[in-house]
Amino acid sequence: MKKGFVYLTGAGPGDPKLLTIRALESLQEADVVVYDRLINKEILQECKEDAEFVFCGKFPKNHTLRQEQINELLYEKAREGKVVTRLKGGDPFVYGRGGEEAVYLKERSIPFEVIPGVTAGIAAPAYAGIPVTHRDFGGTFAIVTGHLPHKKNKEQWEALAKGIDTLVFYMGMSQVEAIADMLVTAGRPKETPAAAVEWGTTTHQRTVTAPLHLLHKEIEQAGIANPAIIIIGDVVGLRDKVSWFSEQADQLIKKAEPTGNEA
Ligand code: SAH
Repeated sequence: MKKGFVYLTGAGPGDPKLLTIRALESLQEADVVVYDRLINKEILQECKEDAEFVFCGKFPKNHTLRQEQINELLYEKAREGKVVTRLKGGDPFVYGRGGEEAVYLKERSIPFEVIPGVTAGIAAPAYAGIPVTHRDFGGTFAIVTGHLPHKKNKEQWEALAKGIDTLVFYMGMSQVEAIADMLVTAGRPKETPAAAVEWGTTTHQRTVTAPLHLLHKEIEQAGIANPAIIIIGDVVGLRDKVSWFSEQADQLIKKAEPTGNEA
């Protein structure tokens, strides 16, 4: 039995069945579970009955201090001899601050294991019928943060606009128009197919598609909000042929309507 150990666990993008076997084991072993805002609560039922749960939902704009507190919490609990599972949406090393936590623990000689998760930027498009690569429509793809698009310089935007086939933006919902403008200015055709997938892989999943320069309007009209992934590139055009999950999800949403749906 492990003691004084931390798992940095990826919980996957939303569908509880996308949890890995290793992630499940780390939940079953945990004395303390430190979890995020976007975690599907269903998977917490896999934990020990006497496990301690700490919710540390990170809300936009309230980041910095809280991350320090989370680091300290992981450290303190491990020092008490507990097995701690730090559970994050998607993959812990993709905009999950898992790298910071790993460094913090390593510097303090706390043993840990990183359990990769299925990341939203690949899974949400997949459930929307959009393969992030395809031999004929996209041989390269990049994961990009949509946060603070103005901080990227002209060269960076040109590299993304001209050098990468498929662009997947996380955390970009408040910046869709700015992102599209910068890509078009940097040389990406304004008619490039684009999509936004909200609550990907869950029964609340919704998808809109539009040419790049009109995506923000489509999003506004449909009321698509966080959490959502933006995908830009010719692969989006495959959705009509590949789409498989959204029909099922739409049906589930319809069935759920009479009892209310707080999504
Ligand atoms: N570590 C996570 C990402 C955390 S950053 C991962 O690997 O998936 C949070 C961003 O992830 C959100 O702003 C949104 O862009 C995206 N996201 C997370 N879950 C999502 C989901 N179910 N559907 C669409 N986007 C999601």
